[in-house]
Amino acid sequence: MFFISYEYKGKQGWGVANPDERVIYTANKIFGENAHGTLLEFIQEDSRIKLDSYPEQGISMDQVKLLAPIPKPSRNIFCVGKNYLEHIIEIAKQDNTDQNPMEHPAFFSKATNTVTGAFDKIPSHEGITSQLDYEAELAVVIGKKGVNIPVEDAMDYVFGYTVLNDVTARDLQTNHLQWLKGKSLDGFCPMGPWIVTKDEIPEPFELNISCKVNGEVRQESNTRHMIFDIPTLISILSRGMTLEPGDILATGTPSGVGKGFVPPKYPKKCDVVRVEVEEIGYIENIVD
Ligand code: MG
Repeated sequence: MFFISYEYKGKQGWGVANPDERVIYTANKIFGENAHGTLLEFIQEDSRIKLDSYPEQGISMDQVKLLAPIPKPSRNIFCVGKNYLEHIIEIAKQDNTDQNPMEHPAFFSKATNTVTGAFDKIPSHEGITSQLDYEAELAVVIGKKGVNIPVEDAMDYVFGYTVLNDVTARDLQTNHLQWLKGKSLDGFCPMGPWIVTKDEIPEPFELNISCKVNGEVRQESNTRHMIFDIPTLISILSRGMTLEPGDILATGTPSGVGKGFVPPKYPKKCDVVRVEVEEIGYIENIVD
């Protein structure tokens, strides 16, 4: 299933999309009394409703504004840095740092004010950063509470997947030493267009992932190149640290970020940044 949050006639709601037909169905239509609240609350309630067929009446996707599937996460987005070898090498060349993979995943987080919709504008924050960069990522949405999750059980804790751009102010990332600030400017985490439930994607370890800027391919890789795969990341992150349903984990970006080019190719105002993950879809955001 393809879970969405949307705005329609001035009201926010959530529901399910049929991407092939470009139609959405409101939660009420599909789940009846279970449909109260937000999509995040639905996930938190550990709801496991299977949809066998779509209802007859839907709303055209063109009539709604798609929001981030979880517009207001209950806590920061968990992220992992340096999870694709080619990306480690491109950054190491620029910064004169170690080109070897890390022994442990480099976890960090983005504040919740960053979250924005799949087709919303990315604020350029002129005067605050001059090195706005993109990072195409597959994000995992946790569906079940857990701590000290064994690798072999980790996929049981996944609700689904979405596409995420881990937008980064490279200058702030460097200046402030810790990455939080450079990763957390308003609008720096476009995601969506939907959460695809894990049953739809049996092999999340084999998905093409790409980023284009104004149609030019900048990043092109596959999730099989992750150094720490999804079960490993979930297992390590959950050691002594409880994961909650609705938590979002961004799994790292491949090579081809703006910083990796000589000279760097940072997106400028009016540039269109498109991030795509196979079997999920794409998000497309203009730098404003
Ligand atoms: Mg990243």
